[in-house]
Amino acid sequence: MIGPPGAGKGTQAKELARLLELVHISTGDLFRDNIRAGSALGKRVEAVLASGALVPDELTIELVRERLRAPDCVRGAILDGFPRTLPQAEALSGLLAEAGDKISLAPYIKVSDQILVERLTGRRTDRRTGRIYHVKYNPPPEGADLEQRPDDAEHTVRRRIAEYYANTAPLLEYYRKAGVLREFDGELAIADVLQLIVAAARELRPA
Ligand code: ADP
Ligand code: ADP
Repeated sequence: MIGPPGAGKGTQAKELARLLELVHISTGDLFRDNIRAGSALGKRVEAVLASGALVPDELTIELVRERLRAPDCVRGAILDGFPRTLPQAEALSGLLAEAGDKISLAPYIKVSDQILVERLTGRRTDRRTGRIYHVKYNPPPEGADLEQRPDDAEHTVRRRIAEYYANTAPLLEYYRKAGVLREFDGELAIADVLQLIVAAARELRPA
């Protein structure tokens, strides 16, 4: 899944994983799990996430390499928030090629900048279930155990959007050239975006 922060990658990836019975791998979630657990990796990346900068490529690539080795990935995976740089994309292509595999679809969720800030500052996550809500666009149910990501403060959000344009946007051309990029209007309602991506995924791999 490619798109700027707040495009809806996590929201869509979770549902797609459920519907297509694939694992959902979010590098952001993996980093946050490590930070919460106080692991060595967590300690190394905590300040980076808080600043809105990107974690160095080697650390990120190693994390994904390990995760993709797990047996639950044999049917494939939905990668959310990875790759985010050209070196990461090239490393991923290499990893997959070693296994005789490749990326089948790179869904690009397109959303304009004005909308991103409101989406991210209004984002809330349920601590227990990991579900993603929005105070206005996807209100949480009564009794949800909500938290707000520290990097969703407006100042950090702007830094993350700048990182996206500097480092991640060039991947659009990379995957367009590879013939796997498909663009989706991320300003549609959550359910409508999902329906379009599911249809594109099912075209590749008829049920
Ligand atoms: P990303 O993983 O790309 O950063 P998220 O999936 O976490 O994005 O979504 C960011 C915020 O926007 C969340 O609060 C989510 O509920 C909300 N959101 C996601 N998709 C939509 C949509 N299509 N319309 C309105 N709000 C959305
Ligand atoms: P969002 O859903 O808003 O796009 P993520 O949860 O994907 O945010 O990422 C949160 C933070 O984790 C990023 O700002 C960055 O610091 C770090 N991160 C996540 N994925 C990567 C990656 N592939 N490369 C480098 N840093 C990453």
